[in-house]
Amino acid sequence: MALGAAPAAAADFPPKDSLYHNYDEMVADIQAVEAAHPDIVHVFSIGKSFQGRDIWAAKISDNVAIDEAEPELLIDALHHAREHLTVEQALYLLHLLADNYGTDTAITNIVNTREIWIIFAVNPDGFVYDLTCTGSSHPPYCAWRKNRQPNAGTSAVGTDLNRNYDYRWGCCGGSFSSPSSLTYRGPHPNSAPEVRALEAFVMSRVVNGIQQIKAHITLHTNGQLVLWPYGYTRTNVPIDMTAIDQKALAAFGRGMAARNGYTAEQSSDLYVTDGDQIDWMYGRQRIFSYTWELYPPETPSVWTDHYPPDEMIAPATSRNRAALLYFLSVGGCPYSVVGLTKQNCGPFFDDMEIRRGWTVNPDGTDTAPASARFAWGDLHPTTWRGQTIQTDRAASGRYAFATGLPSGLSAWSYDLDGTTTIRSQPIALPATPGPLSFSYLWAHGPSSTSDSLAVWIEDHSGVRTRVWAIAGSPATVAGTWRRGTASLDAWAGQQIRIVVQAKDGGHGSLVEAGIDDVRVEEPT
Ligand SMILES: [Zn+2]
Repeated sequence: MALGAAPAAAADFPPKDSLYHNYDEMVADIQAVEAAHPDIVHVFSIGKSFQGRDIWAAKISDNVAIDEAEPELLIDALHHAREHLTVEQALYLLHLLADNYGTDTAITNIVNTREIWIIFAVNPDGFVYDLTCTGSSHPPYCAWRKNRQPNAGTSAVGTDLNRNYDYRWGCCGGSFSSPSSLTYRGPHPNSAPEVRALEAFVMSRVVNGIQQIKAHITLHTNGQLVLWPYGYTRTNVPIDMTAIDQKALAAFGRGMAARNGYTAEQSSDLYVTDGDQIDWMYGRQRIFSYTWELYPPETPSVWTDHYPPDEMIAPATSRNRAALLYFLSVGGCPYSVVGLTKQNCGPFFDDMEIRRGWTVNPDGTDTAPASARFAWGDLHPTTWRGQTIQTDRAASGRYAFATGLPSGLSAWSYDLDGTTTIRSQPIALPATPGPLSFSYLWAHGPSSTSDSLAVWIEDHSGVRTRVWAIAGSPATVAGTWRRGTASLDAWAGQQIRIVVQAKDGGHGSLVEAGIDDVRVEEPT
């Protein structure tokens, strides 16, 4: 627009940056895309900001009204108010998918085989406020970062939404406790309604115990980076990450960066953050989660970092086309980047690092004392007459289901003395299911065949068939993780549950059992 044009209305971009969408224009654009493509785009709100604005989202998929059995991907934008280019990137993605559906084969295939969620502005209050500082050095911009939630006992406003998530919140010097700080973490985890809305949405995508969202990008500016978890520690493989996940997270991140020319690294390589979103997404939900720091490269000034001229919107967002399509494609099975599609992206995979819906004592008939039953947790080394009865590690990562987990007891107090059972959530098998496989721990002192560890398949009507078992023997057996398998061909196309039962039926025989890394592999 020419010099001398009328001043911008409240909460709008200045005429020189009029190609940026303000909040109302963003909503109008999303709704227009839905109106033009109602079969593949559904617009909804995941909840309200502190000031009551909707946090708008869209689902993009074929048969968009139905929750199909397709891998889900999430992209969100604008946790930080001044990072306006992220909204443009989210709108670019919406248009890329909707406008090319039916004409571009690769995009059509992605929309048909995925359920894609886009959240366009996690922080709408900050978004609006950032365009109202007429007295700033760069009016109307405020260079605002946080939300607009007041803080008790101070005039300092706002919480850094990307330090308020409920995972290792405030743990590690990666945020501040002072409300006046740019990276104020809030008075407690989830104190910001915007963070609660996002967490609740993500948790709503757990179906039959399994998180449907497989991969996620949160869009930020700036620096042209692809960052993988964790932010809270500089350790590459801390105890709350499995080695295979770290390998896949890094390879997938580097694959994206190879397509947009960004730099890929662990989040903490940039700087340590705690309570941030990607740590929560991976730590609590095991979603392959990334921060993208968009254009421009790092500059000395907040004003040039966060307010690139609107002429840069088109080149800076379209530059990410190939990386976004790669993310949506590979993100359906992030383990594919390390060659584990068949093993880890079949009908069921549980590395037991988070709770995925197993029930202890599902029939109410277990006879083992409560402290000895299967429990989900961290293993403790236990020895008996010089033999390791329980190892100090899960088969992978940190956690597993095992008997006798309470610490501080003697080996004999751990003893099972009865039966203990766990049962999975329902699992839908394809027409030609691959095998069931699992890691098991089976240890005992002098024992007999009245002690056993067995795996059963329960069909949709509750009928159980034993598919695998190991029994006790007179010799002492030390606790070591081994792998068991069983065919599921008899239940092809059916819905099943996996049932695991350990039984200490003899007297005076020490018995311990554990289960980890359960999978039903891809069809053969
Ligand atoms: Zn940011």
